[in-house]
Amino acid sequence: MNLYYIAHVANAVGGLVFTTKPAKSVDSDFSKNFNEVTATNEGIKVVNLIDSNDPLAIVKDEVTKDSDDNIFTLATTAEVLFNNLPYLNGLQNSKIVIHAQLPKDEFSYVSSLKDSGFTILLSNNALEAHDMSIVAYLLATAISRPVLHFFSPSDACTEKNASFLDQYTIRAIIHQVIHYFDTTTCLEETKIKQLIENFKVDVGTDAYNTNNKITAGDVDELIEKSFKTIAAITGNSYKSFEYIGPAYPEDVLVILGNAGWKLSKDAQNFNAGILNIRVYRPFNFENFLKNLPNSVKRLLTIEQSLQINQFQNLLLDILNNFEKLQERNIKQVVASQLGSFTNSAEVVSKLIENSRSSKPVQNLFVDITKVISSAHKLELAYFKILEQVFGSKLNILNKLDSNLKNIGTETNPEFGFGKFLFEKEQREKLIKLIQTSITENEFQSPRAAELVELLSEWVVSSNDKTETVDKADQIIALLKEDESNAASQLLKYEHYFHKNSSWLVGSDSWSYDLGSSGVHHLISSGENVNMIVFDNEPYEVVKKNKSLYRKKDIGLYAMNFGNVYVASVAVYSSYTQVLQAVVEASNFDGPSIILAYLPYESENDDSLKILQETKKSVDAGYWPLYRYNPTYEDNNEEVFKLDSSNIKKELQDFLDKENKLTLLTKKDPLLSRNLTYSLTSDIKTKQKQKAKEAYDSLLEGLTGPPLTIAFASDGGNAESLAKRLGKRGAARGLKTFVLAMDDLTLEDLAIETNLVFITSTAGQGEFPQNGRNLWDAIKNAPDLDLPNLKVAIFGLGDSAYWPRKEDKHYYNKPCKDLSKRLSLLGVQELAPLGLGDDQDADGYQTGYAEWEPKLWEALGVSGAVSVDEPPPITNEDIKIASDYLRGTIVEGLNDQSTGAIAANDQQLTKFHGIYMQDDRDIRDERKSEGLEPAYAFMARLRLPGGAATPQQWLKIDELADTRGNGTMKITTRATFQLHGVVKHDLKAAIRGMNSVLLDTLGACGDVNRNVMVSALPSNAKVHKQIAHTSYVVSEHLLPQTTAYHEIWLEGVDDNDVSPNDPKVWESRKDGPRKKKVLVSGNALVDQEPLYGPTYLPRKFKVVITVPPYNDVDVYAHDVGLIAIVDKDNIVTGYNVTVGGGMGTTHNNKKTYPRTGSLFGFIPYDKVHIACEKIMLVQRDFGDRKNRKHARLKYTIDDMGVDVYKQKVEELMGFKFERPVPFEIDSNIDYFGWIKDESGLNHYTCFIENGRVEDTPELPHKTGLREIAHYLIKVGQGEFRLTGNQHMLISNIADTDLAGVKSLLSKYKLDNTNYSGLRLSSAACVALPTCGLAMAESERYLPVLISKLEESLEEYGLKHDSIVMRMTGCPNGCSRPWLAEVALIGKAPGAYNLMLGGGYYGQRLNKLYRSSIKEDEILDILKPLFKKWSLERQDGEHFGDFLIRTGVIKPTTEGKYFHDDVPEEA
Ligand code: SF4
Repeated sequence: MNLYYIAHVANAVGGLVFTTKPAKSVDSDFSKNFNEVTATNEGIKVVNLIDSNDPLAIVKDEVTKDSDDNIFTLATTAEVLFNNLPYLNGLQNSKIVIHAQLPKDEFSYVSSLKDSGFTILLSNNALEAHDMSIVAYLLATAISRPVLHFFSPSDACTEKNASFLDQYTIRAIIHQVIHYFDTTTCLEETKIKQLIENFKVDVGTDAYNTNNKITAGDVDELIEKSFKTIAAITGNSYKSFEYIGPAYPEDVLVILGNAGWKLSKDAQNFNAGILNIRVYRPFNFENFLKNLPNSVKRLLTIEQSLQINQFQNLLLDILNNFEKLQERNIKQVVASQLGSFTNSAEVVSKLIENSRSSKPVQNLFVDITKVISSAHKLELAYFKILEQVFGSKLNILNKLDSNLKNIGTETNPEFGFGKFLFEKEQREKLIKLIQTSITENEFQSPRAAELVELLSEWVVSSNDKTETVDKADQIIALLKEDESNAASQLLKYEHYFHKNSSWLVGSDSWSYDLGSSGVHHLISSGENVNMIVFDNEPYEVVKKNKSLYRKKDIGLYAMNFGNVYVASVAVYSSYTQVLQAVVEASNFDGPSIILAYLPYESENDDSLKILQETKKSVDAGYWPLYRYNPTYEDNNEEVFKLDSSNIKKELQDFLDKENKLTLLTKKDPLLSRNLTYSLTSDIKTKQKQKAKEAYDSLLEGLTGPPLTIAFASDGGNAESLAKRLGKRGAARGLKTFVLAMDDLTLEDLAIETNLVFITSTAGQGEFPQNGRNLWDAIKNAPDLDLPNLKVAIFGLGDSAYWPRKEDKHYYNKPCKDLSKRLSLLGVQELAPLGLGDDQDADGYQTGYAEWEPKLWEALGVSGAVSVDEPPPITNEDIKIASDYLRGTIVEGLNDQSTGAIAANDQQLTKFHGIYMQDDRDIRDERKSEGLEPAYAFMARLRLPGGAATPQQWLKIDELADTRGNGTMKITTRATFQLHGVVKHDLKAAIRGMNSVLLDTLGACGDVNRNVMVSALPSNAKVHKQIAHTSYVVSEHLLPQTTAYHEIWLEGVDDNDVSPNDPKVWESRKDGPRKKKVLVSGNALVDQEPLYGPTYLPRKFKVVITVPPYNDVDVYAHDVGLIAIVDKDNIVTGYNVTVGGGMGTTHNNKKTYPRTGSLFGFIPYDKVHIACEKIMLVQRDFGDRKNRKHARLKYTIDDMGVDVYKQKVEELMGFKFERPVPFEIDSNIDYFGWIKDESGLNHYTCFIENGRVEDTPELPHKTGLREIAHYLIKVGQGEFRLTGNQHMLISNIADTDLAGVKSLLSKYKLDNTNYSGLRLSSAACVALPTCGLAMAESERYLPVLISKLEESLEEYGLKHDSIVMRMTGCPNGCSRPWLAEVALIGKAPGAYNLMLGGGYYGQRLNKLYRSSIKEDEILDILKPLFKKWSLERQDGEHFGDFLIRTGVIKPTTEGKYFHDDVPEEA
């Protein structure tokens, strides 16, 4: 009856109807019903297609040909639909309703199509089939997209008094409601009119038909409307999710199937409810939750299927919304499968028992016959899919045992391929035997004629893998009846009659050596064999595991052959795509490779973890989803289909080559963005070649000998030395050419004449990055002979970098190793090895000055007169030439050929708050693949006072997700940083920030930086005053250039979220300046009244604190303002400290950290003037020649504190008053709740090292977003950032306290129960983004602290505060030099240990041990902590204790920082 009513509705709708049937001669139930019903409609046309004849290909052709916007119907079975998966995509934009009949109790077909993009409806009986058919046509007509209607088989219409509609009414609903056709109807006219009005609001307009951007929300809305329409006419009501059961259940069974009604009564006995799914796609999760009673604690997702699947799609639908489940307090989701059953009580009891047990079994399969109580191996998920698609036709070629235990790990593709070839040979023999026996008419049985016909058919179609009706069993049965010799010969090959789909199953271990692994052999064979290769490596593991560099991309490798089908799939990302790929691969005539991703670290990983890992990899482009079918070219179809939005660089290169790029880019703008991000080498290589050609032609006129200079350089010194040497050589008439060492190959060495290497020293005596490949090649070349090559080598190193005797050999190790190795290979020495040492009087220049003349002498050009060399370009040159910070930033942003900007512009963007960085975790990998580094930018906000409104918080949160790397960093200057912003997104990110009145101007660069203040939750009145002062100082010292506005903000931009965005900043009174235009129309030129065109020699930092707190580390900055507060909480003024600063250079004793010197008191209204004048003295007297000596701290020491102060006073025109006494007692944050004097509440959260992100354990980012929404709702509250990288939820009224507390608790932001050490710790960003980092910091300090905490607990120190800080380099961003314990990165895994800093930031620490590793750090610190616990005096802090007990000497002043360092350090 179901079919009858579907035919009834389809007939009423009219148009072209396709039905499928197994064979020409047989009528299917579909065709019978349609023939019967359609007799009443002359306008309808029915086309019968054959199941095995790719019916959807024909449907697709017909539908895409249609230009009249007709509606189509396809009535078929779920199996046929499934076998035709590859054609589904072709129907995407068609107005077609597909009615697919499911096999009894088998709903896995429904979830298989979850990612098809089609709307999916389900019905279980005749009445539902009738009603859902109407809904399907309404939807398909309205959205011009396919709608899939799955229905269960049923023989009889069981509904009594069911209200089926007559055809006129149905036609009226479909046509009148949507198109206002004037059709006779048996409905009252008024009712129809009412319906039309009802629908018109949303779909009566043509908008839905013409607008391609139909969202899931639109479809949901239409479904609701359609259900209402049905209810209005028939009284039958439907919902997308239909709940039946008790009002307050704790368990709910969510069922994809038709068992819900049967189970509901028994479920009630367990106080459990049932949620039936009527609309499976779009899966509206809000709606899903709305239909669940609030009391639910556990969800049981149940897919009805007779086959045991490893993988449950419904579970993933739910887990995809994990956070929302948590919000609803749903603690558990258990997936089960339901096979056939009779005893519903038993089924319900098993399911609920499992769900309520302490360790529920995932993927429990409940069937009348068996219960499978444990999951299969994870990677069998794909195997199950192959089984699902091919059933008994699946032939795993390298299956070693029935349990498949060894699949993909120990078996080799060669093995399976050999088996394939053997089977092929046997099949060919069989074909020959059949041909002979038919020709010679050898069969004897009475059914010989039938047998011959079947055998002939079989031979003809023997290579047709798509044939779905397998005649093998029929043939074998007839052969067994035949007693002829021919029959018995053929039966020997019985196994080969079946048309199998043959697969090799392997692991990514095959990717390591494609040449010898057999993969190459298989790909190049052209044989019709399929291979599925698993990759289980999570993205994070790949990034960390350097040993995987040799792993090759098999997909890319195969695509380059041009005749291989290749797909990259991930079952946890798109199930439908996996199925499509598997079917397409099997149908492809030639080798096929499917790369199947399933990231997990252990077999115990749960679905949520795998889902998240998969998402990360697919979204990041690490694992793009695609399908590549070279035969599509013949049909003018796209050969490459990208099924995810991100793509890897290598793939993009490949597509580029295939000339498909333009098409793809047009189709997918997001792809364009990613391409821009990663597009690198091609254009650059071409440019490089051009430059070399130009240079070569320039050298044509030169007559001297050739000289190639190869450098290996991380920091740039070796490179600039090489370039200078090149210029000097050319000036002497030599044909010089300068390049990075890795741009040379071994083959080049054999043809070079004179070669100079200049290399610096990295890490533990290693070659810098751009020299490692050539060095590895030279080192490992077994039979290289270079007798004609003349070589000179100069190395740069630091003889004091590794102070311990046993490490001394690292000094200049690369150049020494290279020299030794080359002399073994027989090269001639052009000049003796030159060693540059940073410890020499002029640094490495001392050694170089001696070495270079020897080189000229050897080349016979020592007497040549050199032309004047232009002086090197300095930062000062860049600033002055930049036209007030413009440079060529705009051109750089528009240059799509690279993700970087020009080197000079990188200096200038800092003034705009923007740093260019690259992901150093993948630098080596990209380099090894010939790619430029993964460039991205860090954008830092200017946030004077450190406070953000909830709206501003939400915007930064949004930009972090849409433009950055998904996280926000709270910095040590109490502002935000976004990391990972690619060039293409930079402007949009900056505009987004400005749309909420936040800017980045002056957040970095040689100007006044963000003005930071104490968080001071305890005193609102004082905080307001200091926040105001910070604003005044920040605005007063803000650069006046209009370049910022011109580059980032001028005009409108396609990426603006709202057209009103520009209005926000255009009407702003403060912040970045806009260009003023005179009445005459001329623009005023920029001026910098305070800075001048060269700005400051280095950065300038101002902070404000309020005693006794020092959470800003007032002594660490150029200017420290210590607020003096009277008894009425009025800030009368500030004690001013000058000359603090942190940055140093390892082993350079001329650099040191310094604490500020106290100048005196300044009244509050003059403080911005004092800051200005202090800055101006530094502007005029700071060192502009040597940036390492350019900070104010050196100027003040060089000049003398009194002289500096005097100069400031002269400029101010008044003197500093005597400092007002004050007392400071700590520099850490105070966590937890505090009420201020006005009655408002403030909560300081612990955000470890300032990284705001979501992890499965700590969903902080989501939590803070929810709190921001809450604060907006209640209309009060703000976020306050601290200089220790934590954060306050501030200004919370008592009435809102409970709301905020509950959100804090829900998102685990209310935990401050950490050790005193952890709460007092801070780390800078360092790796992977900071280009200066020598070692880990943010990612490592938490780990190290965990290793110390156990001992601290043992010594009773768990709650004692110890200020511990870490940085990845000596620049000191987290102010390590003031910590009681500090670790400063020196090389990967190696740190300098500093001890003895003052607890409240008043005293610098001192080097205790240099270059030590974790075990040494722990061995030193643990006993010291123990000693402190036993011997400390009352209230004595750790740093003070170390000094009192003589462990370390105190650093009394910055300039004595390097004195009294222990000898063994
Ligand atoms: S201290 Fe060094 S490594 Fe750390 S963020 Fe600052 S510059 Fe980078």
